[in-house]
Amino acid sequence: MTFVVIDNCHGCRFTDCVAVCPVECFYELEKQLVIDPDECIDCGMCVPECPVEAIYDEYEVPEEHLSAIQFNAEQWENGRHITETQYPLPGAEERRKALGFG
Ligand code: SF4
Ligand code: SF4
Repeated sequence: MTFVVIDNCHGCRFTDCVAVCPVECFYELEKQLVIDPDECIDCGMCVPECPVEAIYDEYEVPEEHLSAIQFNAEQWENGRHITETQYPLPGAEERRKALGFG
């Protein structure tokens, strides 16, 4: 089992999730983060930290986002390993509001 990042994360990258992950399994792509499924220990600590509900248990991913499971599994190796909170991308706040969060 693993947790995965869906495309709600596109353009946001608030990275609150990264700060709490005990095993540092987040990787940064150009537009979003992904999780290394082999390193994730399924603790779920990152889920409540995400302001746009972008992180799911792989067995609870909404149907319209199921492709995210394979996307995370394939793309984490192409990402940059990040272990600390970063500044959000430009427009992140606007995107959060557009998604209906806060
Ligand atoms: S907190 Fe959520 S939106 Fe922000 S980087 Fe993490 S998964 Fe993406
Ligand atoms: S579920 Fe736990 S181990 Fe997996 S990415 Fe989130 S914080 Fe890290």
